[in-house]
Amino acid sequence: MQRNSSPSQNKVPDAIQASRILDRVPGMVAVYNIQSGHYTYVNNSVQKILGYSPQDFLVGGFQFASSLVHPEDIQPLTRQNQKALVEANRKANKVHDNLPIVTFEYRIRHKNGTYRWLHTDGVVYDRDEKGTVTHVMNISIDITRRRERELYDAQARKQFEEKQQYLAAIVASSDDAIISKTLDGIITSWNKAAYRIFGFTAKEAIGQHITLIIPKEHRQEEERIVNTLKQGKHIDHFETVRITKNGKRILVSLSISPIKDDQGTIIGASKIARDITQQKLIEQTAQQSQERLQLAVDAGKIGIWDWDIQKNEIIWSDRVYEIHGVRKGKNIGELEKYRRFHHPEDAERINHAIQQAIAGIKPYQEEFRIITPSGKTRWIETKAVVIKDKSGKPRRMLGATMDITNRKNLEQQKDEFVGIASHELKTPVTSIKAYTQLLESKFSKEGNEKAALMLTKVNAQLNKLTALIGDLLDITKIETGKLEFYEEYFDFNEMVQEIVEEIQLTTTTHKLVMNLDQTKSVYGDRDRIGQVLTNFLTNAVKYSPYAQKIHISTKLSEEAICVSVRDFGIGIPKDSKDKVFERFFRVTTSSGQTFPGIGLGLYISSQIIKRQQGKVWVHSQKGKGSTFSFSIPIRRKAKKK
Ligand code: ADP
Repeated sequence: MQRNSSPSQNKVPDAIQASRILDRVPGMVAVYNIQSGHYTYVNNSVQKILGYSPQDFLVGGFQFASSLVHPEDIQPLTRQNQKALVEANRKANKVHDNLPIVTFEYRIRHKNGTYRWLHTDGVVYDRDEKGTVTHVMNISIDITRRRERELYDAQARKQFEEKQQYLAAIVASSDDAIISKTLDGIITSWNKAAYRIFGFTAKEAIGQHITLIIPKEHRQEEERIVNTLKQGKHIDHFETVRITKNGKRILVSLSISPIKDDQGTIIGASKIARDITQQKLIEQTAQQSQERLQLAVDAGKIGIWDWDIQKNEIIWSDRVYEIHGVRKGKNIGELEKYRRFHHPEDAERINHAIQQAIAGIKPYQEEFRIITPSGKTRWIETKAVVIKDKSGKPRRMLGATMDITNRKNLEQQKDEFVGIASHELKTPVTSIKAYTQLLESKFSKEGNEKAALMLTKVNAQLNKLTALIGDLLDITKIETGKLEFYEEYFDFNEMVQEIVEEIQLTTTTHKLVMNLDQTKSVYGDRDRIGQVLTNFLTNAVKYSPYAQKIHISTKLSEEAICVSVRDFGIGIPKDSKDKVFERFFRVTTSSGQTFPGIGLGLYISSQIIKRQQGKVWVHSQKGKGSTFSFSIPIRRKAKKK
């Protein structure tokens, strides 16, 4: 160290001595010639700060130094430098030359490629005799640390401000009132929703005591709230009543949290208030309709069940247990277990109906038999809806079940009665018919025309009676599944022609006009199919009392042959159109006009066509007429015998 050196060594020249001192300062010192752009001196600290040796700068000159400056900083640096020199030359006042003429902060590249921040003061080092600056000394210190801290602070501040803005936006846009107050209850903030809910503007509310919105009868609550908060506790969803500016009492749900200062001392509270008046009203209405529904369910002895399709779990209401004769609360479990109750003859149909309902093909509505654990057979009627999730996947099936055993028994008794009665009627009517025909031909032969004519009329009435008995017998057969079919190949048009001619003989008022497509041999029960056409034709005559014509047409397509009977009569109102094929359904005319009949013909017709794998339908316009049609598939093959 210089301090310990001998006196003889004190003769070291001043410049060297100065250079030694300068090498020890933490800053970078460099002197350069403005004209040549060469450094005349660079201290050793450059090595520490930038990784390069002083030699690198002495050789590379000002150009080398500039190449290390960050591209974004080089231009402002050069500009500032030049400006400072012009100014220094103009002043040419050496007195100020120990003060920096320029100061910059900029980035410069370290030998390892990273950038360092430097703070550099440029000082006039030397001038020529005219006072023009010839040498400048740059004194630089590394401020990278400081700069990084500043940058970090700026980022942190920005983040904080953004967060503040974000929170402010939430508070402003909230549908719930957000209010803060001191522990003494003085309101310190009040958002837009608070204004909307309570009617006071922020200006009116801030500074006021919170009792502004607390009705008299609820004031004691505030004390309790403050005490809870003082213990640092939150209050969640506390339902109470508050009062608005115009005196209206509203139901609110309050959530209150303590506000703490930096030291954690509770200094106030923030309150979120939600107006739940409407919600309560909806809840009440829902509860009322639930009660009403329950009443209806109880009164109608309706059982409710819920099948979670995904979990395959069935839940029954008490009534369903009762209907199935099972102890209440017993676990029914999955669908497979429930199937045990199904009557073997109905099981497959029910299973199919459930699958169709789940697939969305047909709503579930079935009447079927169950067998209770004690072996009793019961008829039940069940309707259900399939509930799907957002993606359209079936989740649940919700159903209502009623015990219809009594109704079914009555129906069965009635069917049996109709069956027996019509059967018993058939024999005497047939013999009466035979005797009238005999008498008619006898009177005709004897020339007693008057008596013969009367018997013809008796005969016509007997035909009607026979048809009626025939219908009643058919119904019984359909209901008991005993309607039999004798199938064969037959010429369709020929059958149509035959029947049309037959019906033409029974009417003098209507002309039956045929328009038949080329014929085809079809497979089916000729008589039964003919019975359907007869029904269409007699209806057409009956329900068009003021018309003269009826059109009959056949049409052959690739799949089926179709026959249509068109009349120009009273027509069918829209809402009854699909019902005419139901059992005992008859349209009641508003004009009071009555037509004989019992509403069975079309039901029987539709059942026959269904069993022949065909379709029946009707187009009709009230007051204009109707067209009844049915089709029979032509590809049906004869059954192997
Ligand atoms: P019925 O004629 O014995 O009452 P149907 O089953 O043949 O029984 O017909 C059911 C109902 O459909 C009839 O009562 C009638 O209201 C209506 N209907 C049937 N055919 C026609 C038609 N061609 N024009 C208008 N209404 C008809």
